[in-house]
This record gives sequence, C-alpha cells and structure tokens, in this order.
Amino acid sequence: MTTSEESYYYPNRMGRIFLIAMNDIIGVHGVNATLNLAGVPDLVNNYPPNNLKLGFKFEHLAAIQETMDDVFGSRGGRVLALRTGRETFKYALKDFMPVLGIADLSFRPLHLGIKLKIGLGVFAETFNKFTDQIVRLDEEESRHLWIIERCPVCWQRETTDPCCHLAVGLLKESLNWVSNGREFRVEEIECIATGNSACVIAIYKQPIF
Ligand SMILES: [Zn+2]
Repeated sequence: MTTSEESYYYPNRMGRIFLIAMNDIIGVHGVNATLNLAGVPDLVNNYPPNNLKLGFKFEHLAAIQETMDDVFGSRGGRVLALRTGRETFKYALKDFMPVLGIADLSFRPLHLGIKLKIGLGVFAETFNKFTDQIVRLDEEESRHLWIIERCPVCWQRETTDPCCHLAVGLLKESLNWVSNGREFRVEEIECIATGNSACVIAIYKQPIF
C-alpha cells in the first residue's frame, strides 16, 4: 500500500459493526490475527466506540481486506468478505434504519422495482451523509449501477481483479432485505484497485429467485 497524507473515514459505529460482523464469520482469534497482520493491533479487543464520529480510517478497512486475501487466498478472502458484508448489513439495519425512515420499506405494498430504487437511493444517501465514501447511482435497462467514486474497501490497493467484495456482500444483503428475501445478481464490474476511475457494482434488476 502507498501512503497518503489525506485520510478519509467511516463513522466509528460502522467500523465497530464491521469488526463485530467479521467476528461472527471468522471468530475472535481470526479477527485478532488479521488485525495484527494488517498493522492495526490497536483495534484488537478494542473496537471503535458506538458513535457517529468519523474515526475509522479507510486505509485500515482496506488493509484488513487485503490481509484477508493474503491469508485466505483471493478466492477464500472473497467468500469471507462477501459473508462479512452480508452480516454487516444485518447489524447496520438495527443501528441505522431507525435514522433513515425506511424501516418498513420491505413491508410496503410497492412494486419490487420501486422498492429497489428507493432502497438504493437511501443507502447511497446514507454513505454520502455519514461517511467519507462517495456513491452515486446510475441505471441501465436491466441493471442499476452503484458507483463508488471514493471507496474505502480498496483504498490505495492495487489488484488484478475487482476486490470490493465486502461492498458486494453488503449490497446483496440490503437488497435481500428490501425485497423481503429475494436474491439478486450483484457483481463488481470496475474497480479503482485495478485502475478504473470508480468502483462500479452492477445490480441486476431481475431477481435470481
Ligand atoms: Zn473499491
């Protein structure tokens, strides 16, 4: 990883949720080993406090993801990051939904396409409002594009393949929630770590099931 003078942040609460979710997936020893290897030993048994202060650095999140790929291999790291992303959303739902005003979205009698649109809009707004991550949405006939212009997951990384699996997992689970249990095909088609100008995640409008 290269160094930069600038630092960008997630709120402490998001860092905390992410580490708790990671704990659920790889266990406390796995998390501690990863944090040590990632060069953030200060976080071992010392997760960020549960507040919205911008205190969880993008470079730390990226270093943790990179370490997961190093330790488990790119395939294993990908699977674990996807699962961690999904688990992270479950906690985020409890902590952030009350603030967002869409807690009942999945129960509203709306067309699935409209729910997706509302959900994605609110999720993007949440990142833009509470974090230094920058997200915008675009739409094609068959898919939505979730375009991350400043991405914490691959921050300052260089990879041969798109590597923001955590973001993909988070989106998959959020869409599952919005749609009351449907699964969508979600894939990262461009990634800053591979040299693109943004991380672009394609969300296919037609659910898989
Ligand atoms: Zn990225």
